[in-house]
Amino acid sequence: MSSVFDDLVGQEHIIEILQSAADASRQGAQTQEMTHAWLFTGPPGSGRSSAALAFAQALICPNDGCGTCSDCNAAKTGGHPDVEVIRTEGLSIKVEEIRELVIRVAWAPSMGGWRVVVMEDADRLTESAANALLKAIEEPGTRTVWLLCAPTLHDVLPTIRSRCRHLQLRTPSIEAVTQVLIYRDGISPDMAQLTAKVSQGHIGRARYLAKNETARSNRKVIMKLPMQLGSLASTLQAALTLVDIATEEAKATSESRDETEIEKLQEAYGKGATGRGMATGGSKAVKELEKEQKSRATRMVRDSIDVALLDLATFYRDVMMVQTGNNEYIINTDMREQIESCAAKNPANSTILKISAIMAARANLTHNVALLVTCESLMCQLTKQ
Ligand SMILES: [Zn+2]
Repeated sequence: MSSVFDDLVGQEHIIEILQSAADASRQGAQTQEMTHAWLFTGPPGSGRSSAALAFAQALICPNDGCGTCSDCNAAKTGGHPDVEVIRTEGLSIKVEEIRELVIRVAWAPSMGGWRVVVMEDADRLTESAANALLKAIEEPGTRTVWLLCAPTLHDVLPTIRSRCRHLQLRTPSIEAVTQVLIYRDGISPDMAQLTAKVSQGHIGRARYLAKNETARSNRKVIMKLPMQLGSLASTLQAALTLVDIATEEAKATSESRDETEIEKLQEAYGKGATGRGMATGGSKAVKELEKEQKSRATRMVRDSIDVALLDLATFYRDVMMVQTGNNEYIINTDMREQIESCAAKNPANSTILKISAIMAARANLTHNVALLVTCESLMCQLTKQ
């Protein structure tokens, strides 16, 4: 029989816990026995939000979490009245949003089971938003279950995490990701192996690369940047290329989504019918949506640069492998020649500094720094021997 947990790759240790909690709640366990707040942590790509969503489905499904019934499907596509998925489009979740959410989910579940809130980026809660959420989590006897997701425990306020049952996801093995790509997504074994390897267990990234030729060629351009560093002009050009590619990738994914959202909103306000709705509040709502979309676009460019920087980090990681005589552990096997040449030309301690510079740039990106300047400064550091 199929199950909502089938899609979670390499997470057997937590599936068992979630399964038995869902079973217990279905067999009529008392409200107070159910854990009302859960915290899913794990590295990017480990599938923490997929795990939380699967659990939400298991809690509301009338067929033991089948993954195929109309309730399961509605929960997955955002159409179930008792399952709310909070995805942050901006850089933070504000207190007003949480207050609104708490009021919205305080109603009894429409189907008599649970009301489930999946919060994909609990690490983006502002302090006051986290405090507002805390009050809701502490409310005893409610039928609301909170499923929070964050990269690590430390990304969530101690007061929140002390009230949550914590589940730590693992990075799935490259082998496990390869198998899923081949057998579930129908990707050829060669492609599955390569993309699983270069994505280092990040299944979403591996699948995206395997299915998207533009993404693969963009990645190639990024991976060649270290070889182009030299003069100041070429170093600054490398930074520009990085930002340009990230901007293009973000644009490609958001443009069609932005348009559909605006159309839907206009329809909701009665555009094309009487037009009166648009006059009374419709255009204000469209403006607000556009503002939101802009903030999302900024975040998507940042995320896209972050992915590129992680790719670059694997290049220098490979260089270090060669410098320490571990040639067989290279990730980017398609670039062996360039990696070996870079390893021969540079001292090993400079490679370590380069990897730290990349990690520092990634950390800076999470603050509101100027993207191009950050990338330029990074490229200058990568140029040093
Ligand atoms: Zn179901």
